[in-house]
Parts: sequence; structure tokens; C-alpha cells
Amino acid sequence: MTFVTRFAPSPTGPLHLGHAYSALLAHEMARDVNGTFLLRIEDTDTSRARVAWEEQIYDDLAWLGLTWRTPVLRQSEHLERYNRALMQLAADGLVYPCSCRRSDIRAALSAPQEGVIEPSVYPGTCRHRQMSSRKPGDALRLNMARALERLEAPLSFVDTGPIHTGTHAIDPDTLLHQTGDAVLGRKEIETVSYVLAAVIDDAAQGITHIVRGADLFDTTPLQVVLQHLLDLPTPIYHHHRLIRDDAGKRLAKRDDARAIAKYRADCATPDDIRAMVGLPSLFEKNPRE
Ligand code: GLU
Repeated sequence: MTFVTRFAPSPTGPLHLGHAYSALLAHEMARDVNGTFLLRIEDTDTSRARVAWEEQIYDDLAWLGLTWRTPVLRQSEHLERYNRALMQLAADGLVYPCSCRRSDIRAALSAPQEGVIEPSVYPGTCRHRQMSSRKPGDALRLNMARALERLEAPLSFVDTGPIHTGTHAIDPDTLLHQTGDAVLGRKEIETVSYVLAAVIDDAAQGITHIVRGADLFDTTPLQVVLQHLLDLPTPIYHHHRLIRDDAGKRLAKRDDARAIAKYRADCATPDDIRAMVGLPSLFEKNPRE
């Protein structure tokens, strides 16, 4: 079996225990089947990505004992290919420019439709617009209803993770009423949303297995739709459990207290980190004499 997986952090803050678990799990799943582990830097959000965080990612992962192929794919160096995909979707009539601000969307969603539309779903104010009306500062949205019309066969994906094990049929109603017209191109011309860039690079890097946190499970149907629209393969997914803080909350970038760098500064060992995220010690397989 071919097994190519990746760890794809965004360099917008320090890696924390949740990242350590994800990276170690992907690395070990690949190693166990003689597969390939790749690292990808998802730095298309230029307002938040920092080279210093990227450097720390390399440093922390190497310290944890991971190795990866170089050069590493940095998404900021491939904006042109994401833009090409966006223009392909535009040529197929599947995206439209949108100038709505968050406050416009909130206003359009309040009464009288309140309770009818899901509060987070874009109400479609700009859906009638042609690409030729795109102005600097406009986002690009997927016309979800039209996209679903294009995709005839029922779509699905397979998850091998412990939480969502099995084959998942993609429900068009959920996509229409909960995901809606997702933003694919961000307001800054030439930048794409993470969902689209990840789909394109997973194909470009030949990723066969996506190992990532269960917090991204709900993003998967949209990504599978994009794979089909762009004629790209659907990898096998493995959404893993999340590492939580003492109060049971998922760790976020701002949880600096659980940053790997912080534990390193406090003289923790890589094996201490493994124990904290529930992975066996590196020495377990070779018990000390
Ligand atoms: N860059 C995303 C993140 O840091 C991960 C994307 C993925 O694994 O598909 O949350």
C-alpha cells in the first residue's frame, strides 16, 4: 500500500501539545508501513504567518525526533497555482465575488428570516454577481447549490480514525444549509482560503492519507466537493482525538502555556511530551536491561 501523509501547520503561533500529537501520530503511521511523511507550511494568511514561527516549527519537530523530506512545501510560494484553480472554478461559473462585510451578513441574517436560516450560513447577497464585477477587496465564494448540481454521483469519504470510523456519505443538505457558499478566495487578491489551498497541495504532493485533528472533520465534506470539482483524488482521512486542557477545552494557538517550546524551556524531554499526549515511550519497545 502506498502511504503518503503530511503534517500541515500554519506558522501563526507556537506548536502546542495537540500539534505534537498530530505530527507524531502521522509520522509513526507512515513509518509503520514504510510510507512517507511530509511537512507543509500553510502560510497563505500573510497577516498572521511569521517566519519566526516557521523556524520554531522546524526546531520543535526535529527535537521531537521527526524527520521529513526537504525542501518543505511553503504555500506562500505557490499562490499562482491556487489562483489558477480559482480561475478554473470561475470559468465553470462556480464562484462569484462578494463584498459583504461580517456586519452586512449579520444584518441580512437577522429578522425576518431569523430561525429559518442557520445563523452562520452566508445568505447569498452577492450570489447574482458576475466575476467581471470583481473589485479589489472582494472575496470569492463558491456557489454551493450550483457546485452540487454539477456533481451527480453521491460523494463520500473514508475515515480510519477512532472517532468517525467508516465511510461517510456527503449530505448535500448539510452542505447547503450549514456550510453554504464558502469563501475560497480571500479579500486580498491572489490569496486563497485554507480549505482550497490544502486540497490542491494534497493532490500536488500525492497525499494518500490525511491524519489531522477531529476538529477538521466537518471541513472534510467541503474539501471532498472541491476535489471533485477540480478532478483531484480524495485521500483517506484519519481524524484523531484532540488533546484538551484540564478544563476539557481543545488547545488553541493562544495556549502558550502548553507550547512545546515552553515545555522544552522547562527541561521536558521528547518522551515527556509523548507521555502527555498519550503516546508510548520511545523506550517501551526496547525495555532497559
Ligand atoms: N493548517 C491547518 C491547521 O493548522 C491544518 C490543515 C490540515 O491538516 O488539513 O489547522
